[in-house]
Amino acid sequence: MSTPKRFPASLKSAASPQRELLMPQRHLRQATADAARLARPSGTGLDSGAVRERMVGRLRAEGRFDERVLAAMAAVPRHEFVDSALAAQAYEDTALPIGHGQTISKPSVVGHMLGLLFAGAGARQRGSLGRALEIGTGCGYQAAVIALLARQLTSIERLQGLHDKARANLQRVALPRAPRLVWGDGRVGHSASGPFDSIIAAAGGEDIPQAWMDQLAPGGRLVAPTAAGGRGQVLVVLDHVVEAGVSRWIRSEHEAVLFVPLKSGVV
Ligand code: SAH
Repeated sequence: MSTPKRFPASLKSAASPQRELLMPQRHLRQATADAARLARPSGTGLDSGAVRERMVGRLRAEGRFDERVLAAMAAVPRHEFVDSALAAQAYEDTALPIGHGQTISKPSVVGHMLGLLFAGAGARQRGSLGRALEIGTGCGYQAAVIALLARQLTSIERLQGLHDKARANLQRVALPRAPRLVWGDGRVGHSASGPFDSIIAAAGGEDIPQAWMDQLAPGGRLVAPTAAGGRGQVLVVLDHVVEAGVSRWIRSEHEAVLFVPLKSGVV
């Protein structure tokens, strides 16, 4: 067992947010309706790290999350990534709209997926997510969490509006290692920044694109919501294993999820 990493108790932000977020696992219409119903005025004391600690404490109490991931989540001010009207909900375990018809991943889903990445052979040995790739930057929240857990992060977003929004959000949050943000079609990966020890998709496709497999380093692990026939969408884990010089990709299927679709092209 490696020792849990320590992060600053809170990453400071420089200005007030004007962001929105949304998460997988809920339909956009429902998330938006809930957001409107629950939204409270800003100025509710969310700058306090205590609210964030409580969110992480609730996840910790479930006993199924990696402590390093919880430490990173405790350090990232999630309310800075959502629209100020939704800031009061930023520390609930819920999906919120981030604009452009997209959602920010629910904290428990982010925690679970990053835990799956950490449980891969390479990450276990290294104690870090190493060189990482995220497909679907969205508002940049998950990118901020990964940036604290990886040696280097490249994150791709196909919607220019969200790519720009994530850049602004991430600039306000002082990360020790800024992620490399790319506006492009993440289905082709980003070979110039690879190969990657960890790949995580925040949008669900029909299958795992070949480019992601090609760019997954030996010992690396990929986690992606993927269509699984009659079971709908499930989390798929793919490990790149090399035995006697021969590469194999070992696939396992995990729980059912509901992520926004992985689309092609850029907008
Ligand atoms: N990780 C994000 C969640 C964003 S939701 C966060 O923390 O906010 C998923 C995102 O994937 C959306 O912004 C969507 O535009 C993006 N997406 C969908 N298909 C994509 C593709 N082919 N390449 C890059 N991004 C894609």
